[in-house]
Amino acid sequence: MDLATTAVEPETLETGEAEPAGPVALPVSGSGQRGAGGRVLVLNASYEPINVCTVRRAVVLVLKDRAEVIERHGRALRSETLTLDRPTVIRLVSYVRIPRDAHSRKITRRAVFARDKWTCQYCGSARGSLTVDHVIPRSKGGTSGWDNIVTCCAPCNRRKGDRLPRMAGMHPRHAPRAPSPSIFVYVAVPRVPETWQQYLLAA
Ligand SMILES: [Zn+2]
Repeated sequence: MDLATTAVEPETLETGEAEPAGPVALPVSGSGQRGAGGRVLVLNASYEPINVCTVRRAVVLVLKDRAEVIERHGRALRSETLTLDRPTVIRLVSYVRIPRDAHSRKITRRAVFARDKWTCQYCGSARGSLTVDHVIPRSKGGTSGWDNIVTCCAPCNRRKGDRLPRMAGMHPRHAPRAPSPSIFVYVAVPRVPETWQQYLLAA
């Protein structure tokens, strides 16, 4: 049984101001940092990862003195009037309060896969097409919460069908639960760059 696929849009930081045009409209050439899709990790003032944004958005925050560049890419961004290191990790100057469960509320297939490391929670397979499975089937009162949904390969999903774990003799390898807040980072980029790892581990 599948959850409806929901496109995951990394949230943009709401500063209540439009992005200024002009000098900050830096051309972003090339494919950007490998794996991150040209995205920048945003840390709170406390160094907790809170968001992923575009290079342009990050540059705007830095130029407005709302953020500082913590990690930079070798190549510089250039416009007619300005040269700036391309940021890969920025840190907000003032602390932004983020509700503890802000990210864990959003359940998407991709977020479930990321939490389960793209591995079937019944047989351990990481190959083939992945689905999501309700551990307790909805028809038997199971919810669609984080604690009842696991990554499941297609063959396991067919085998388990509409049965309870004990009836099918299939139990998830890890008891499912809400992921850590940094899960949104894994959802927002195709591959997490090495320079981001230390900030995610600390979270
Ligand atoms: Zn499986």
